[in-house]
Amino acid sequence: HPRYTESRKLLERGRRVIPHGIWGHNRIPSSYDPDAMPWFADRAEGARMRDVDGNWYIDYICGYGAMINGYARPEIDAAVREQSAKGSTLSHATARSIELAETLVDLVPEMTWTSWGNSGSDATWSALVIARAHTGRSLVACVEGAYHGMHGWGGLSNPPGGRIADDVQSVRSIRWNDIADLDRLFTAHGDQLAAVVVTPFHHPMADEAILPDRAWINALHAHCERAGTLLISDDVRAGFRLALSGSHTVFGFRPDLVCFSKGLGNGWPLAAVLGTERLRSAAESVFVAGTFWNSASSMAAAITNIRILREEDGVEKMRRSGESLSSGLLALSERLGAPLRVTGPPAMPTVTAKGDHDLTWRRRFAVHMAEQGVLIHLSHNWALSTAHDAETVEETLAHAEVALQRTLEEVELPTAM
Ligand code: PMP
Repeated sequence: HPRYTESRKLLERGRRVIPHGIWGHNRIPSSYDPDAMPWFADRAEGARMRDVDGNWYIDYICGYGAMINGYARPEIDAAVREQSAKGSTLSHATARSIELAETLVDLVPEMTWTSWGNSGSDATWSALVIARAHTGRSLVACVEGAYHGMHGWGGLSNPPGGRIADDVQSVRSIRWNDIADLDRLFTAHGDQLAAVVVTPFHHPMADEAILPDRAWINALHAHCERAGTLLISDDVRAGFRLALSGSHTVFGFRPDLVCFSKGLGNGWPLAAVLGTERLRSAAESVFVAGTFWNSASSMAAAITNIRILREEDGVEKMRRSGESLSSGLLALSERLGAPLRVTGPPAMPTVTAKGDHDLTWRRRFAVHMAEQGVLIHLSHNWALSTAHDAETVEETLAHAEVALQRTLEEVELPTAM
């Protein structure tokens, strides 16, 4: 079994100077045994990450989706080094911003301009401000259980600490794939709704992923067109894993604004909002900005990242590896009598366990996977990268067999289906 001694030491040191010892989404939930998993990373390469105790893992978290072409991909890191030698955050924008905007506008149909940010939250917030400027309306509708960022409006299911009524009073909530709920929303608020924000498929925390129904998409388009409400695609998580043209093109959404971030820079912080021509003047009328939003090193990373995805058909590579991972896991689960379920697109599968309502089963499975050298997230979708090849998947499945057996011995199979 691997040891997590250095992780544990860092956590104790960290707790003196950082709330929880780890800030943000990577922190350890209070229901976890901190000794059972590694918590601090040392380095990463390709599909693998090494923790501070020297244990290597095949990584299916991929920096929460940020890594898409392999950690430390040489061409991308060389582009970053080359740009960084000249400077990244300068007093002026650089030609990299124009090159990248041209690349993105060329890839995503209907979109004619791009704005920037550093995070997914920057992108979704910018899109909302532009939608409000264009429509002169304040309300925004989001799908129940979806996450659009750390600002008050974008994460209604987040812990409520520090949130005030003002943060959410302009937010309305709808249910995924529920046409009657859409009808209700637009009847009640159609003329006040600036935008509906959707992810291209529904990926709620700790629950199964759900693809969009064609009829629901059609109803959404019809309502938005009739009411003059804009449609925003939050492609922060799925972007570049399902298609280079925006994940909305896979499912048939026709958004007015598209938000990218995670996969864009292969780990270098960057976000983009793309919009249609009719929204250009609204985009020119707003002030949404950040000191680091024109950082050229991240843009150099993104330009090379997208070029590689394009040249090597990265999307198809991830789909193929994801497909064999998903079908392999399901076959193992069936053979061993385990309760696994796999939902969502193969390149970003959501792995759940039937009847595992309090995550007990998944928590132990994640611990045993880590012991075997596979890093998974128990309540967030997994992510494949182009560095996860057939061999990586085969090795993963061999480890998963042991981890599944250990979990089955340890946790009683949930009976509620
Ligand atoms: N939208 C979606 C769909 C996301 O998954 C996330 C991040 N998990 C965000 C927005 C926010 O991105 P960030 O954490 O970079 O601000």
